[in-house]
Amino acid sequence: MNVIQTDVVVVGGGVTGVVAALVASRAGAKTILLESRTFVGGNATTGLCLHSFLTRDRRQVVFGLAQEIVERLQALGGSVGHVPYDGFVSAVTPVDGDIFRVAVTEMLAEAGVQIIYGCNVVGAEANDGYVSHLTVAMKGGLRRIEANSFIDSTGDGDVAAYAGATVRIGDSKTGKMQPVSMLMRFFNVDTRRIAQEIGEVNPAMATKDGGEPFPVYFNGTFSKWNDVIREEKIFPNEDHKVFFNTTWPNQINVNTSAVFNVDGTDPVALSKATVDLTRQVRKAGDFLKKHVPGFENGYYIPAIFAGVRETRNILGEYEIQDEDVLSGRKFEDTIGEICFPVDIHDPDTGQAHFHDIGGDGAFDVPYRSLVPKGFSNMLVAGRCISATSFAHGATRNMAPCMVTGEAAGVAAARALRTNTPVANIDVPGLQKELNEGGVYLGSKAA
Ligand SMILES: Cc1cc2nc3c(=O)[nH]c(=O)nc-3n(C[C@H](O)[C@H](O)[C@H](O)COP(=O)(O)OP(=O)(O)OC[C@H]3O[C@@H](n4cnc5c(N)ncnc54)[C@H](O)[C@@H]3O)c2cc1C
Repeated sequence: MNVIQTDVVVVGGGVTGVVAALVASRAGAKTILLESRTFVGGNATTGLCLHSFLTRDRRQVVFGLAQEIVERLQALGGSVGHVPYDGFVSAVTPVDGDIFRVAVTEMLAEAGVQIIYGCNVVGAEANDGYVSHLTVAMKGGLRRIEANSFIDSTGDGDVAAYAGATVRIGDSKTGKMQPVSMLMRFFNVDTRRIAQEIGEVNPAMATKDGGEPFPVYFNGTFSKWNDVIREEKIFPNEDHKVFFNTTWPNQINVNTSAVFNVDGTDPVALSKATVDLTRQVRKAGDFLKKHVPGFENGYYIPAIFAGVRETRNILGEYEIQDEDVLSGRKFEDTIGEICFPVDIHDPDTGQAHFHDIGGDGAFDVPYRSLVPKGFSNMLVAGRCISATSFAHGATRNMAPCMVTGEAAGVAAARALRTNTPVANIDVPGLQKELNEGGVYLGSKAA
């Protein structure tokens, strides 16, 4: 079997892996990013808001690489920055999914990261908590990848699971997972009109290129159309919820589909759900065009993959608890802060429930929640870090994913420089480096 060797291997090129690979490479580690798809950006490419940089009282707590990406996107027309909103959050950060993909691809190239697309990690060998190599499947067959440190940013915790780490799947009590959904992007629409018809509260408004303000984020329900929805069987329930965001005055991303009881780690189940979601999106798109003012002249494209909200979370040296979120807890080994409320889409109905973060509106992420219990040279970052299913409702969102990705990447490069297993690096040194990179460390802020 062909062998590839490097310093740091990052598996999964979503928001988390992109950030982890960028900072590891910038810090001097020879870094390879493995991605099973043919593009980077993961779920961010479907056209969403990067939730959330600002606390409920509009205090920004997420900076670092995440903020750098937003600024890069702004320069390319793919972001309208952080925009005030008076809904379940106090500010939103919508981004264009395609421009996100382009921007981060360029940033990775500038940083010297080697990306290998179409590369699926299918196995990991570990002894006494030390990962010796990964097995990957790619065109040409199986290969072996060796590295000093491994970062699992697959969202699903694939690498950790293959290596034998302890994982939980779905809700702690029931094992149920939040539904999977597929976004759609509508072009040539009247976003102001749509916001008037559907927005529950005033939409978040932004301007671009000196133009008129336009709505960039709002949500609501299709209650006005309950009769037609029932008759034409558009959605399974009445008062169906819908979330909108955009960075353009005449386009809108629509998030309203759902398939339930899907295990996102099972490719057969996820494939079936993808077919079902594509059909759902088609039906919903036709309904919007026919019945909802503002959409009548529009045309739409379903996202090219199904988005998965929840699968595995690893058990780390520390598991973020419900109370840590509800009290806005601070930790000695913080690597950054999370301020997005807990957002759980009910596994049976799909309806979203939000729970605010307590204390000062943000909680610290302890470094230990990135370290799979008993492992020395592997970190997990992003959606699958060590957190209860309730806490995962907050940690799974994209600003938190970038915060943990940045810490993992900096830590892996530091482990190499100091010749220390990544699980045992000196955390104050890591915090200093993160702080110098612009990361806000909450209770340890300089
Ligand atoms: C429908 C939906 C709407 C959402 N809305 C929002 C929102 O508005 N705002 C927000 O902040 N968050 C939102 N989220 C949550 C958020 O988008 C994700 O939790 C987050 O993007 C996860 O980032 P990640 O980097 O951990 O994983 P991903 O973005 O899933 O990236 C993981 C990457 O790893 C690759 N990969 C996986 N397994 C392997 C393997 N074995 N080998 C190689 N590569 C692999 C995948 O192809 C993928 O590119 C939403 C999620 C969904 C599903």
